[in-house]
Amino acid sequence: MDNNQPTNALHSDSDTTKLPLSNAEWRKILPAEVYAIAREKGTERAFTGKYYEHKEVGTYYCAACGHPLFNSNGKFESSCGWPSFFEPISKGSIIYAPDNTYGMKRTEVMCGRCKSHLGHVFDDGPPPTGLRYCINSVILDFDKAKKAEKNFTK
Ligand code: FE
Repeated sequence: MDNNQPTNALHSDSDTTKLPLSNAEWRKILPAEVYAIAREKGTERAFTGKYYEHKEVGTYYCAACGHPLFNSNGKFESSCGWPSFFEPISKGSIIYAPDNTYGMKRTEVMCGRCKSHLGHVFDDGPPPTGLRYCINSVILDFDKAKKAEKNFTK
């Protein structure tokens, strides 16, 4: 995995223990750009993320804690400028919350394990779900198909 946080002992793709850390604790663990998205609900600039046009087969994990979030077969090409998925890898992989900031009514999506901010979900996605999970590349780590198959058969 190409994550850049070797000191993050909480990082795991199988441990589902919730991680109720304070932001002060997260700040010590996460790279600054990950912290800004994950804990301060930032947004990377459109069309700049490394996974926006990424088409490899595999699994996307939370860059903060390693929790599996999306499969490449749930990803679709969207013109919005961020990696877009029509479904998460499993129901428990994502937490939802209303977000009424900036004068918009949106639904925020967070990591089901560590509650890091991922992005938002909109109802203008493709079939079969009609949903568009619009996710920041910065908070995703990608791993190729071998691990994806393992997760897919869970
Ligand atoms: Fe996480």
